[in-house]
Amino acid sequence: MDSPKTLLQAIQYFTDEQVCIDAVAAMRWPNGPHCPDCLGDAATKPYYIKTQKRWKCRNCRRQFSVKVETIFEDSPVPLQKWLPCLWMLISCKNGVSSHEIHRAIGVSQKTAWFMLHRLRLALKTGTLGTKLGGKESGGVEVDETFVGGKVKNMHRDRRERFAAQSGHTGGATGKTIVLGMLDRDARQVRAQVVPNVKREVLQTEVLENVKFGTKVFTDNAVPYDKLHWRYVHEVVNHAEEYVRGQVHTNGLENFWSLLKRGLKGTYVAVEPFHLERYVDEQVFRFNNRATKDNPLNDSDRFLLALSQVANKRLTYKELTGKDGTTPF
Ligand SMILES: [Zn+2]
Repeated sequence: MDSPKTLLQAIQYFTDEQVCIDAVAAMRWPNGPHCPDCLGDAATKPYYIKTQKRWKCRNCRRQFSVKVETIFEDSPVPLQKWLPCLWMLISCKNGVSSHEIHRAIGVSQKTAWFMLHRLRLALKTGTLGTKLGGKESGGVEVDETFVGGKVKNMHRDRRERFAAQSGHTGGATGKTIVLGMLDRDARQVRAQVVPNVKREVLQTEVLENVKFGTKVFTDNAVPYDKLHWRYVHEVVNHAEEYVRGQVHTNGLENFWSLLKRGLKGTYVAVEPFHLERYVDEQVFRFNNRATKDNPLNDSDRFLLALSQVANKRLTYKELTGKDGTTPF
């Protein structure tokens, strides 16, 4: 069977553990498997022990599985469940809930919740060293949005934890802030949770993510008032107008509505740490949607996500703040 094209095919295709191992290995090690301890040394080319489903390093003698140093590491859930779960996550337009995964994959709802958080981490695309825009480009929209339920509806301990994390003490300010940047030409979004909307925070993000000299479109919020030092800064005053010719942030508005639609129903009280993962998921979906020039399909998106599973970990402790072995 060729590589799967639909969810049904994916579930059938990934029923065999060796098929799963081969698929993950091919995507995370495009140049062949290598020992996590002896990086880059071609002479240490490990060999596969079929009965153990593990590789062994010729140099340090370490044995390792395909899950080593990936989001799947130390998980007792077999890849035969992880991979269809990933397929569901990337193929659903607005995302998928842990309840749906629980029913479709046959894991507990709690396990499904943890799995989804780890898989979202794989969707996070590294952007280190690359910047949006450019002097000749169509420009970059920058805007921030507030996400989350009302703090007063949270349980008390959750509210306190939330306040400690966000530095807010309740009311409307208890919402989580997400900053977004959209490269209009490339149709690529970057978005992340930020601790506040102070100039220092927002401006630093723009400086780190947008090339100097780019046309930058924002609203007239104070945090953006120094951007003209490095950029061609175009401002739309949202109190008076939403669009002035090319000066608007409507591209980002589209992204925000996608993000909020995906969150609807899955969230009552949004904690910043978890929201970040949802933002990563929606950024992946937005940046890898099919366009005329780039007709990506579910199979392409699945393989892309699979190529990003390595060098990322999310432990039980990080997710819950509790000690203990990873039960998912
Ligand atoms: Zn080694």
